[in-house]
Amino acid sequence: MTSTFEHGNPDGFDYTRSGNPNFKNLEARIGALEQAQHATVFSSGVGAMTAVLSTLSAGDRVLAEENLYGCTYRLFEQVYKKFGIEFVYADLSEESGIGTIPAVRPTMVWLESPTNPLLKILDIERIADAAQRAGATVVVDNTFASSYLQQPLVLGATLSLSSTTKYLNGHADCIGGVVCTNDTEWGERLVFAQKALGLNPSPFDSWLITRGVQTLPLRMAAHCENAEWLAERLERHPAFTLVRHPSLPSHPQHDLAKRQMKAGSAIIVAELALGIQETRRFLESLELFTLAESLGGVESLVCHPASMTHASVPSAVRQRVGISDSLVRFSVGIEHRNDLFDDLQNALRKVSL
Ligand SMILES: *Cc1c(COP(=O)(O)O)cnc(C)c1O
Repeated sequence: MTSTFEHGNPDGFDYTRSGNPNFKNLEARIGALEQAQHATVFSSGVGAMTAVLSTLSAGDRVLAEENLYGCTYRLFEQVYKKFGIEFVYADLSEESGIGTIPAVRPTMVWLESPTNPLLKILDIERIADAAQRAGATVVVDNTFASSYLQQPLVLGATLSLSSTTKYLNGHADCIGGVVCTNDTEWGERLVFAQKALGLNPSPFDSWLITRGVQTLPLRMAAHCENAEWLAERLERHPAFTLVRHPSLPSHPQHDLAKRQMKAGSAIIVAELALGIQETRRFLESLELFTLAESLGGVESLVCHPASMTHASVPSAVRQRVGISDSLVRFSVGIEHRNDLFDDLQNALRKVSL
């Protein structure tokens, strides 16, 4: 824990905005998981995205998957657009969406897989191939899968970005972000952005996340097992008109998920046969699933994307991409699965379903 370092120290540290031993420890661990030569940590996932986008210039174009995390969309549309960067959206789960890459001529192709909140699985290898042929940098937001379940760089992405706030830390006690790459020039640009834009994390938060990463495989195994078990039960439950999890054979990209990820991660999205008022009442009746933003911690959370994480996405855009008012998103924790299922059933009884 320090802001500055004695001049001439053997590790070459000078000031914590441009590096700290706690950053290096965390960067080495996440870099190893992602099979990356370079990992750079940031103050948050949004800080990591800011670092990547800050390398662009006016006139550059970003082609992004149309289903994006709400704050990513906000950063594109309300911040970087002002600086003359163009954002174009396409459904990259469709061949026709990937087919637009050469004509759009993007500097950067940006995607998440699984997407937030719809859990679309995008073919990273296929998209990276098309993007690289068009000379574009491919950025994959790997937050929902985690560095344990999916390695985007191995699949051809240039940059793999994560909010370490979520699964990597796993304990919901601090905020952080990371960008991994095997491109040395990109590695240098990211270190430059860390210090030049003041996007560094705190040494203590880096230490906390390093502690979190130690149990990542154990937590992910427990998260995935619980989520698969619950998804199967919810899918059979009459209260839900739609249940989506990559492990379900009914998921539109189930086979791709099996190829691309070690397991389906632990976010479940579901649509209830309820109006917006009753949906909110169901969410407020849950006891183990806390109604809150965020995901990926050991404790289960539930959220209502339309009024919470994606409230900053215009309603018309939400409808178009499929984020309805009765859509709920569960972040399944590592509690006992029977307790989680009981909690859901009790809350459904309160709205008489
Ligand atoms: C949470 C999240 C982010 C943003 O990360 P913060 O740490 O909250 O800044 C980015 N992408 C996805 C997919 C997320 O879930």
